Amino acid sequence: MSQCALCLEERMLVESHLIPEYLFRPLYDSKHQFERLTANPNFDHSMNKGIRYPLLCAKCDGGINTAYEQPFLKFWMEGQALNRTLCNQAIKDLDYAKFKLFHLSILWRFAACDKRYADHFDLGQHEEPLRLMVKNGDAGAFNSYPMFPQMLLKQDGSIAYDQICIPTRNFNGRYLGARMVYAGCQWSFIISPNVVLEDKDAVVSAAWPHPFGQILVTSIPLEECRAHCDLEQVRKRFLS
Ligand SMILES: [Zn+2]
Repeated sequence: MSQCALCLEERMLVESHLIPEYLFRPLYDSKHQFERLTANPNFDHSMNKGIRYPLLCAKCDGGINTAYEQPFLKFWMEGQALNRTLCNQAIKDLDYAKFKLFHLSILWRFAACDKRYADHFDLGQHEEPLRLMVKNGDAGAFNSYPMFPQMLLKQDGSIAYDQICIPTRNFNGRYLGARMVYAGCQWSFIISPNVVLEDKDAVVSAAWPHPFGQILVTSIPLEECRAHCDLEQVRKRFLS
């Protein structure tokens, strides 16, 4: 028995996926096994079970799956949301709370897992508010912990669904941020419960999930993706 990171009850913990396993399927489908975590050709470890960690009790693990992961699977992946839109156009009809909390739940899971490592992905004071948002299904206001996607395009014009990158922190001068790569996009998070908008931010904020159910997607070439991670650390931490 250990403490579940989400409900804080003493329970048997399950090997939770930190990133839903279905987001790894494009890699299996094309190569029958997960051959690489990013474009790094030196990463040779098979990861065909995805990234897992004993973090949650079965009830919380199942709850996240039902509340956030399955809706995202249907809407974004099976619904081919990126293919249905032209670049720089809005994707509509998304469920604001489920969509936003899907992304925040992944970010939170990385912060909540093993803290023995000095370089573990740390959300500091923001971890607890994010735990409560995920637990309570509260996506907060438009400017609370927003994120925006940039579709990653390969040279042949296809969407880079086969790229996965765990979170890395950054700082934009005003706010702590984080970047991850999955589901065909680089996702940039702003780690603040109340992002103050200035006039020049209007374009950026248009790309955040909006409570009326849309998000703007821009695109960048895969080569310009700035997310990166220490692959050796990932291997040691999650695969040993
Ligand atoms: Zn729990």
